Amino acid sequence: AGSGKFFVGGNWKCNGTKDSISKLVSDLNNAQLESDVDVVVAPPFLYIDQVKNSLTDRIEVSAQNCWTGKGGAFTGEISVEQVKDLGCKWVILGHSERRHVIGENDEFIGKKAAYALSQGVGVIAYAIPSWDNVVIAYEPVWAIGTGKVASPEQAQEVHVAVRDWLTKNVSAEVASKTRIIYGGSVNGSNSSDLAKKEDIDGFLVGGASLKGPEFATIVNSVT
Ligand code: PEP
Repeated sequence: AGSGKFFVGGNWKCNGTKDSISKLVSDLNNAQLESDVDVVVAPPFLYIDQVKNSLTDRIEVSAQNCWTGKGGAFTGEISVEQVKDLGCKWVILGHSERRHVIGENDEFIGKKAAYALSQGVGVIAYAIPSWDNVVIAYEPVWAIGTGKVASPEQAQEVHVAVRDWLTKNVSAEVASKTRIIYGGSVNGSNSSDLAKKEDIDGFLVGGASLKGPEFATIVNSVT
């Protein structure tokens, strides 16, 4: 971990029911979490209200997607205004599942990111025009949901490359203050070795974020 505040996001993806989410929230509410870590969970849209109404304020809530602009005649979409209305501070954008399975491209994701940031919602993302309130997730696709985690050295190497890219293409200040988090089969057994690396500023966790105690172990792995 570097000097910025450690950031751990739990991406619940398209999983859960009212009952299983109520159990997960109660496990998270009972978990002891290190104070110096930003902790965020991203439930499916349908359950955001349930989670906001039952989860401790210690943990922030993120959406997993949003529309490119203001709401209106866009059947099936969810606007940034609605995401904010439910109390979400973040949105995940540019996830490889949305690129590869749903077919979102850079331009479309860029529009979403620009609009979300313009409305004051932070973005857990890929590449965007304004860097305040942005966390970048590096997730090798071969490691997502496969049980094959990157080694701390592999992840560190890419995080350094992303930071160098920011230095050259944006600014040294943005490079040093933007948190670059790793995702791909992070679990309670491998997170502490990854967290020791200087340029790994947190995690985006899929499968293991569905288990409250294990997610808490990952949050606490920064010490
Ligand atoms: C993810 O999809 O963001 C992810 C990292 O998934 P998992 O932890 O299940 O590999």
